Amino acid sequence: MSAAGGVPRYDCIVIGAGHNGLACAALLARAGRGVLVLEAAERIGGAAATREFFPGYRVSAGAHLLHSLSADLRRDLRLDSHGLAAAATHMPTTSLLQGLAPLRIDAQGAGAEAGAYADYEARMRRFAGALAPALERTPPRLGAGRLSDRIELLRLGLRLRRLGRRDLRELLRIGGMNAFDWLNENFGSEPLKGALAFDAVLGTNFGPRSPGTVLTLLYRLAGQRIAGDAGLWQPVGGMGAVCAALAGAASAAGAVVRTATPVERVWIEGDRAVGVVLADGARIGAGTVISSADPKTTLLRLVGARHLDTDFVRRTTHFRARGLAAKLHLALDGVPRFAGLDADGLGGRLLIAPSMRYIEHAYDHAKYGEFSREPVLEITVPSVNDGTLAPPGKHVLSAILQYAPYAAGGGWDLQRPRLLKSAIDSMARFAPGLESQIVAAELLTPPDLERELRITGGHWHHGDLAFDQFFFVRPVPGATQYRSPVAGLFLCGAGSHPGGGVMGIAGRNAAREVLQGRG
Ligand SMILES: Cc1cc2nc3c(=O)[nH]c(=O)nc-3n(C[C@H](O)[C@H](O)[C@H](O)COP(=O)(O)OP(=O)(O)OC[C@H]3O[C@@H](n4cnc5c(N)ncnc54)[C@H](O)[C@@H]3O)c2cc1C
Repeated sequence: MSAAGGVPRYDCIVIGAGHNGLACAALLARAGRGVLVLEAAERIGGAAATREFFPGYRVSAGAHLLHSLSADLRRDLRLDSHGLAAAATHMPTTSLLQGLAPLRIDAQGAGAEAGAYADYEARMRRFAGALAPALERTPPRLGAGRLSDRIELLRLGLRLRRLGRRDLRELLRIGGMNAFDWLNENFGSEPLKGALAFDAVLGTNFGPRSPGTVLTLLYRLAGQRIAGDAGLWQPVGGMGAVCAALAGAASAAGAVVRTATPVERVWIEGDRAVGVVLADGARIGAGTVISSADPKTTLLRLVGARHLDTDFVRRTTHFRARGLAAKLHLALDGVPRFAGLDADGLGGRLLIAPSMRYIEHAYDHAKYGEFSREPVLEITVPSVNDGTLAPPGKHVLSAILQYAPYAAGGGWDLQRPRLLKSAIDSMARFAPGLESQIVAAELLTPPDLERELRITGGHWHHGDLAFDQFFFVRPVPGATQYRSPVAGLFLCGAGSHPGGGVMGIAGRNAAREVLQGRG
């Protein structure tokens, strides 16, 4: 840090201490840059934080399962030496089925379709393997004529070519398909298709029949490859432990992390970002500003339309970023008793997504500002694997309710208790007596998540993952490759390539772009 004319100055200011901002800060600091991270909230973590929601009960308040945290980043920043440890790895997925035994989603659970399942898995693994490097790298800029972009495009083509003719043809065929048709081609079992389709729509604004859901499924599978095929895992201390380890790596490299310090706007002189202005009016100078806040917040609020051209403002305004997932936390005075579930299953991921039709039906409601009385749920009981989250003998339940509309008819004040009741009733069908075990409940709808996490729309990915908002064009043309129309201002959050999930790639790639002096 230096100071000129009483204004402190850093090489780099990172806005937001979510996992991407922290990853970016750690890498910049390690490369010798003087880095200041400014976080508006009282604590670090953004959508990957652990917090107490009821005295003695802690939960991962946004993301609750790891499946795509970059294995390279974890190793490179030595996150394990900064306290990251697994409470559970390779957590199984079990589908809860009315009137039937719970179904483990794996080759054995596929029963008579075990062969088809193995073929499907192997094929999707090959496709995901071919796509994973594209997710991990900065997308090339089309038509820019830069040699590095051409090489990157060539690499992408070669990787796909290496799939071989048959696989490549199949990938091109299914790439734009919907999960509903694709899974129907592969399987007969409704519960199996329901569970597999769930991963295609989780965190998105889609139902299984929406075009592009094979892409979102492949996105998730490619993320798993980036994570070194560690499967689903849960860190000790909840998701906040990932960010604590990243902050540890950043601090060890010399970065300064300040919480409770909202940035009011990016300080722009001429056409260049030269620092930030805080909510209290204080200015801090920087050679480069990198924002992990969502694209609408960064570009429309912190920069402002007067610094941007009209067409770019229009595109950014239309960036679709309304979340469709809600989060439910329950404090329980004992272990929930899901019928027919063994200890291994209870420590894993439970789905209420018994068929693709059931999921599509729930999605149909959300399209019209309603929610289904038959909600789609991803349930975990993280305290089963990690005693640090609840008092002895007590438990926390963390669930994602896919398909809670941003704007609920009648307003969320009216609808929140109703959604809470249908979620609890739905789970209690499988875990008799659950209601009587509840000590406290918290339901965060998309507007609640927007407020609490400071993400426009409360969107899982900071903006839809759809063909027109993906890869080369994410978030919008003019702000791709982690750059922005304002010189010296970069983006490093989930709104940039490759999108959301606790992956760390956007933060890492943005740091690389800054260090390469592009922009
Ligand atoms: C309900 C929900 C459940 C999810 N579940 C999972 C899951 O199980 N697994 C998974 O992998 N992913 C999950 N995700 C997705 C994942 O949590 C996010 O994609 C990811 O955490 C985004 O990280 P980020 O660092 O890019 O942004 P964020 O975590 O959003 O961080 C941005 C930071 O910027 C700060 N900020 C914003 N404005 C300002 C300002 N003006 N000044 C200073 N700071 C500011 C915010 O407070 C925040 O800390 C979930 C998301 C949601 C919403």
